[in-house]
Amino acid sequence: MTTTYDSLIFELSQPDRSGVDLPESDVESVDLSDKFPEHLIRETEAELPEISELQLVRHYTALSNKNYGVDNGFYPLGSCTMKYNPKLNEDVARLEGFSRIHPYQPENTVQGALQLLHELQEDLAVISGMAEVTLQPSAGAQGEWTGLMIAKNYHKHNGENRSKVLIPDSAHGTNPASATVAGFDTVTIPSTKDGLVDVAELKKLVDDDTAALMLTNPNTLGLFEKDIVEIAEIVHEAGGLLYYDGANANAILGKTTPGKMGFDIVHLNLHKTFTTPHGGGGPGAGPVGVTEKLIPYLPVPRIKKVQNHYVLDDKEPLSIGRVKGYYGNFGILVRAYTYVRTMGAEGLQQVSESAVLHANYLKKRLETHYESPFPQTCKHEFVLSGSKQKKLGVRTLDIAKRLLDFGYHPPTIYFPLNVEEGLMIEPTETETKETLDGFADTMIQIAKEIEQDPNIVLDAPHTTIIGRLDETKASRKPVLRVPVTTRNLSNNS
Ligand SMILES: *Cc1c(COP(=O)(O)O)cnc(C)c1O
Repeated sequence: MTTTYDSLIFELSQPDRSGVDLPESDVESVDLSDKFPEHLIRETEAELPEISELQLVRHYTALSNKNYGVDNGFYPLGSCTMKYNPKLNEDVARLEGFSRIHPYQPENTVQGALQLLHELQEDLAVISGMAEVTLQPSAGAQGEWTGLMIAKNYHKHNGENRSKVLIPDSAHGTNPASATVAGFDTVTIPSTKDGLVDVAELKKLVDDDTAALMLTNPNTLGLFEKDIVEIAEIVHEAGGLLYYDGANANAILGKTTPGKMGFDIVHLNLHKTFTTPHGGGGPGAGPVGVTEKLIPYLPVPRIKKVQNHYVLDDKEPLSIGRVKGYYGNFGILVRAYTYVRTMGAEGLQQVSESAVLHANYLKKRLETHYESPFPQTCKHEFVLSGSKQKKLGVRTLDIAKRLLDFGYHPPTIYFPLNVEEGLMIEPTETETKETLDGFADTMIQIAKEIEQDPNIVLDAPHTTIIGRLDETKASRKPVLRVPVTTRNLSNNS
C-alpha cells in the first residue's frame, strides 16, 4: 500500500549525509552562554535529520501526493466554494513589487501596493453595494466579528447597549460563534418548512434589544430569501442592523448586491468567491463593507487616496481599532484583485449564471435518487437528504466515504442542521458538464449499490491509504507526525 518514501524523515537519516553545502563560516564564534537562562541552553547537539537533497524532495513530494485539492479533482464541498484558483493570480502575487516589499516601508515607496488595496476596496464596495470596505480581516469568521464590533460600537455611540443578535437556524456555525465572541447573546430564528427565515417568528423575536440580524442570502440551503426586503424593514424598524454573511457570493455577483437588499454590514470571503486558495486553515481574507453611517467605525489604518497619493490613515476617533497585523493578508488580496480585474463586470455576472446553472443541473439529475427536501430552484448550491438511504441502513457519512473510492471529495455532510442526513453540494461555476455528469453518475451508482449491496458502501473507502478515522479524535487530538499505516502504533512517543 505504501511507497518507499513514506517513512518519517528521521528514519531516513544517516550520519554525515547532507543535502546542503554551506561555505565555511567566516564569522568568529562567540560564547553567549552567560547571556541566556541556564534552562534554555542546549546540552546536546540538535537532533536533525541527515539526508540528501533528493531524499528530501521525494519525501515531500510523496506527502504532497497524498493531499487532495481543487487541482486534483472535483470538490463539491457545500458552503466552501472550492472553485478553481487561476494560476494567473499566482503569477501576479509573485511579482517582486508585491512579494518583496515590507509592511514597514515608508508609504511613498509602496504606492503601487496601496493603490491595489485601495482599488480592491472600491471594487468590493461596488460588488457588495456598500459605501466603504476594510480589507483587514483574515477570514470570514474574523470579518463577522469585525462587523459585529462595528455594530456594537455604533449602538454604543448612539447611547444604546443592545445585547441580542438574531441568527437563523440554517446559518453557518461561525455566525453564533462570532456573535458570542463579540459579547452578544444569540437568538435562533427557526426556518419554515420551505427552508427560509420564518418572518412571523422573526417579528416575535425582534425588539429594541436587537443589535443585529445575521443573514446569509442565498442561505446555506442554496435558497434565496425572497422576503429579504420585508425582513430588512422589520429589523431596521426595531433599530437593529442587518448583517450579510457573504462568504459564498457566487450566486449574486453582478446580479444584485447586499446593499440593494437592505443590508448595513457585509463580509465577503476572498478565499471562496474570489478564487484565492483555501483549505487547511488559511491564509484567507474576509473584507468587510459597511453603509455610509458605519464608515467611522471601520478598523484603522484606513487606506485612503488623497489627491494622487495613497495614505494609511489611523486618525479615526470612532474606529474599533486594528483587527489584524499590518493591512490584511496582502498576497491573498493581490490574487483577488487579479481575479476581479481579469473577470470584469461581465465575467463576474457570468460566474453567477454558471454557478447557479451547474447547481440546478446536478440537483435535477440527483433528485430522483436522493430525497430533495427543497424542490424549488436553487442558487449556487443545494441540499439533499440521505433519509431514503438511512432506511436501508446506510448513513450519509457512508455515502461520503464511498465517494472517496471514485476520487471525489465528498460534499458537506450533516449541515445545515435543519436537514436530516444532509448532503450539501456546491459544484461551482468552474467545472465542465462532463465533470458534473461523472459525479452525478457516481452518486446514482452509489444509490443503486445501497439498494443492492449496501456493504460495499458501509465498508468504504476501499482504495484510500487510510480507511475510516475516528474523525472527532483526528480533529481534536491529531497525530501529525506518524503515518498510521507504516508504523507500529505501540512504538509511538
Ligand atoms: C465559510 C463560511 C464562513 C466562515 O468563513 P471562514 O473564512 O472559514 O472563517 C461563514 N459563513 C459561511 C456561510 C461560510 O460558508
